[in-house]
This record gives sequence, structure tokens and C-alpha cells, in this order.
Amino acid sequence: MYINFEICSKCKGKCCKNYPGLALPNDFGNTKEEIYKNLIDAFKSGNWCIDWEKKEEYFVRPSIKGKEFQVFDHSISGECTFLTERGCKLTKEKRPSGCLLLEPKENEKCVQHLKKQKVINEWKKFHDILINAAVEAEKFEGDKL
Ligand code: SF4
Ligand code: SF4
Repeated sequence: MYINFEICSKCKGKCCKNYPGLALPNDFGNTKEEIYKNLIDAFKSGNWCIDWEKKEEYFVRPSIKGKEFQVFDHSISGECTFLTERGCKLTKEKRPSGCLLLEPKENEKCVQHLKKQKVINEWKKFHDILINAAVEAEKFEGDKL
């Protein structure tokens, strides 16, 4: 985990303003059951969504401001919904791995230690859980209409 308040507080979250950090399946739990349940809750909260690279290459990340409650979102860029004036509103334990593995450096030369392809490969192992959780959360959204 790379945390450097000194560098990041000066920068004021340029990374978070550009695009949210990517989450790994284990950010949602240690078992398939936990991951499934926590994904449904995350999608229902409106603060998390599924994005993708190519066909069937899905991954999970925080929503972009203005795109909350879209379970599927393929925005090219945008500010993370969890960013506030005082920084990230999530505790370190709740942040996506992609945020914790971004090493802050001076002059915006921050280094990402979690590659997008690794994230995609991890989510492939949970493909059915991910899609079923999205369907379940969208049913809930449908019920509210
Ligand atoms: S990780 Fe880098 S881009 Fe993000 S807030 Fe810190 S210094 Fe800025
Ligand atoms: S979850 Fe927090 S640290 Fe990660 S992109 Fe969003 S605001 Fe930034």
C-alpha cells in the first residue's frame, strides 16, 4: 500500500479527478459468497459500477460523479464519486486496490503498480458472480421506478 499524505495533499487528487482507481475482486471479500453479496450492495449504493475494456473484459471501479446508479458505465474519464474537498471519503481499508497501489511521486510522476490487464484477469475468474450481482442490483433499481 502506498500512502503519502504530503505529496497527495499538495496535488489535491489529480488521479481521482481524472478517473477512479480500479478494484480487485478481493476488495469485496474473501469468498465467492462475500464478493457476490458485497457487489450487490456496492451497485445498489450507486457508488460502484462495472466498466470494460473489450468485449467480456469487465472490471469494477467507483462511479464517476454524475454517473451514479449506472451499473454499467464506460466513461473515458471523470471524477471519482468518493472524492471530496478534503480528499477521499473512503477509509484506506475500503479503497480500491488500484488506489492503494498507486505510488505517489512528486511532479505527477506517480507509478501505478496494478496493471489494468491484471485487474481484468482477476475479474474473469468471477465473471458469473459479477454479472449476476449486476442483474440483481438492476432489479432493485427497476423496483424503484
Ligand atoms: S497519487 Fe499522485 S496524482 Fe494521485 S493525489 Fe497523489 S500525487 Fe496526486
Ligand atoms: S476511491 Fe478515493 S482514492 Fe480512489 S479514486 Fe476515488 S477518491 Fe481517489
